[in-house]
Amino acid sequence: TSSSNKYEGLIVASHVGYKKVLVTGGAGFVGSSVAEALLARGDDVVIVDEMNDYYDVRLKENNLNRLREMYPESTGRLVIYRGDICDEALMHSLFDKERPQWICHLAARAGVRPSIQDPYIYIQSNIVGTVLLMELAHKFGVQNFVFASSSSVYGGSKSTYFSEEENVDNPVSPYAATKKACELLAYTYHHLYKLNVSALRFFTVYGPRGRPDMAPFKFVDRISRGLEIQKFGDGTSSRDYTYISDIVDGVLRSIDRPYPYQVFNLGKGDGTSLNEFISIVEKHTGKAAVVRQLPDQAGDVPYTCASVEKAKILLGYEATVSFDEGIRKTVEWYNSSRKNAVPITPETQANGLGRSPS
Ligand code: NAD
Repeated sequence: TSSSNKYEGLIVASHVGYKKVLVTGGAGFVGSSVAEALLARGDDVVIVDEMNDYYDVRLKENNLNRLREMYPESTGRLVIYRGDICDEALMHSLFDKERPQWICHLAARAGVRPSIQDPYIYIQSNIVGTVLLMELAHKFGVQNFVFASSSSVYGGSKSTYFSEEENVDNPVSPYAATKKACELLAYTYHHLYKLNVSALRFFTVYGPRGRPDMAPFKFVDRISRGLEIQKFGDGTSSRDYTYISDIVDGVLRSIDRPYPYQVFNLGKGDGTSLNEFISIVEKHTGKAAVVRQLPDQAGDVPYTCASVEKAKILLGYEATVSFDEGIRKTVEWYNSSRKNAVPITPETQANGLGRSPS
């Protein structure tokens, strides 16, 4: 197609070889998974995470402890800083000491609905924090910056098939607006200082060690325990869920291919209806869901789906894990982690309602 041709002219070569990568938010769900994959392939990782209590901090401690066990401090492969990315003194000394040459910026306040309650903390962590990182990138000569944007930038768009090329952005929450603002500021830093930036718009990520405030985790947890789940609308609404290993693959690919400035969708590229979602969780947990039917939530979009053509051509990205397989693996992880240290209780879960794209 003509759009493939347009992308093909832009392809840059993959940058192979050792990297030292700063992973912000490395104690979180996506960050710890990305850190693990980088370390596994031989890159070195510096993590910075403030360990906030948006959800049970023991889950984040667990994520870091797993990494520490695999890559003890004595190996020098993994260095962990506990602190706020907005702490200028801390971040300056981190850059000075560690000299990372790649930045993979995944730290953020996540969650759509809590951002309506407390917009300032989202603006601080997400926008101010990102600008500070880009300032330090400039100061310390870091050229490659990959960061987590979000499908929520499309938000209230009338379009159902989201493509980066169409001007369909419609951020309808403070969270979504912070992600769009970061994309714009990153464009500015690219323009001013030739910073290579890839903004990755993740579509609802799920899988082992997934966030307890999000629907995939909640449904697996609650259906397994025979607890009621809330179903908004008639169940025909559908969204694009992306398994964690596919997201990690997309992030690593964009670290390896530094584009001057690009926005990429990282999704699976097809939707799963709420009804299918529930029946797949029932199948893998072997339990019947106890469903409380509720009216459609104001502001919820009926259908979201990523166009992944651009990521496919420019990054070689292609999601490989079906929703059925991803939920099977998530349930397997859930069952084994229930036997371990952190009990998953309602208290482990965050305040977010977890149904909006984040
Ligand atoms: P997460 O909450 O598990 O991880 C984020 C981590 O960042 C947390 O460990 C938190 O403590 C840390 N953090 C937050 N603010 C910080 C600050 N100011 N300084 C230092 N550390 C800070 O969330 P996640 O699901 O792993 O999300 C990772 C990134 O991907 C986020 O930027 C999020 O907005 C984005 N994203 C996630 C999804 C999803 O479905 N999980 C979808 C779209 C975008």
